[in-house]
Amino acid sequence: MRTVITGGAGFVGSHLCERFLAEGDEVVCVDNLLTGTLRNIDHLEADPKFRFIEHNVSEAMEIDGPVDNVLHFASPASPADYLAHPIPTLKVGSLGTHNALGLAKAKDARFLLASTSEIYGDPDVHPQVEEYWGNVNTIGPRGCYDEAKRFAEAITMAYHRYHGVKTRIVRIFNTYGPRMRLNDGRVLPNFMKQALRGEPITLYGNGDQTRSFCFVTDLVDGIYRLLRSDYALPVNIGNPVEITVSQLAEEIIALVGGTTSTIVNEPLPQDDPKRRRPDITKAQTILGWNPVVDRAEGLKRTLEYFRTVV
Ligand code: NAD
Ligand code: UDP
Repeated sequence: MRTVITGGAGFVGSHLCERFLAEGDEVVCVDNLLTGTLRNIDHLEADPKFRFIEHNVSEAMEIDGPVDNVLHFASPASPADYLAHPIPTLKVGSLGTHNALGLAKAKDARFLLASTSEIYGDPDVHPQVEEYWGNVNTIGPRGCYDEAKRFAEAITMAYHRYHGVKTRIVRIFNTYGPRMRLNDGRVLPNFMKQALRGEPITLYGNGDQTRSFCFVTDLVDGIYRLLRSDYALPVNIGNPVEITVSQLAEEIIALVGGTTSTIVNEPLPQDDPKRRRPDITKAQTILGWNPVVDRAEGLKRTLEYFRTVV
């Protein structure tokens, strides 16, 4: 198998490259390094089955030779990143997805789209089931990401229905682990960096908002199973154990141990979803998937990584 992974030098993408190489595939990683880094894939460069191409997938994309799978993961994912790059975010979700689908169609390859729980917006259905259509503010600051991903899902289904491309859509819920960028602005790198440096822990709002955190190896396993399934409709992949953001802050302070950090409240960003938890019944029944790394273990492994980069 030859697998193309766009966004392969990013956090999730680099773990996917590793997994597909371990499964015996050749992996072609295409990334423009907007929010990713070559450090994430340094350890793969020596593998003759691995190839890196520096390219913006919002521009026309050509790959020589046969391709069996196209996994489209290129896109800023942290709110701070997509707020800093709103137009590249809209382009990679729309033009980039079109290019990646075109590649899959031309090569008769399977296609998998990295979608997101953000397509549910600030949800008024809880937990979020795949049938829920969402509550997105199209013109709010997060609209550049949410609407790009919603368009990406729509064009993926159109390629499936009109062109018969074998497509898969994973709706990813908050995922964490080693190789998240220290300064990507997401809650986990922020809190770990702040606790390790003894800086104030920046809790946005009163911290009552909830998220459900999935360790990256669990996500990758769900994606691998979904790609091999024949299920074309979206599937939520995430860990359904829901906590408040203030509880996460307390857990990280306790885990770091002896930090001088204290919690400071900062304003809640506009349209920050109040509650988020995946209903994973589809992943369980269709893919036989369940997360296996609990938060205590996942946070420990992630902290080990952040200690090396902070
Ligand atoms: P990340 O920022 O670490 O990785 C994204 C990668 O895409 C980076 O390497 C970046 O350089 C690359 N990229 C961005 N625009 C590109 C372009 N135009 N051309 C080529 N490469 C480009 O983020 P991540 O957390 O690894 O997210 C990866 C994917 O998973 C994204 O599509 C994101 O929307 C999705 N996702 C992630 C999460 C999560 O919790 N991590 C949740 C929902 C969805
Ligand atoms: N958050 C926080 N402090 C930070 C960063 C984030 O309290 O330094 C909160 C943020 O307001 C949100 C949650 O943590 O409610 C998760 O934010 P993140 O940026 O990781 O991703 P999101 O789930 O919002 O896409």
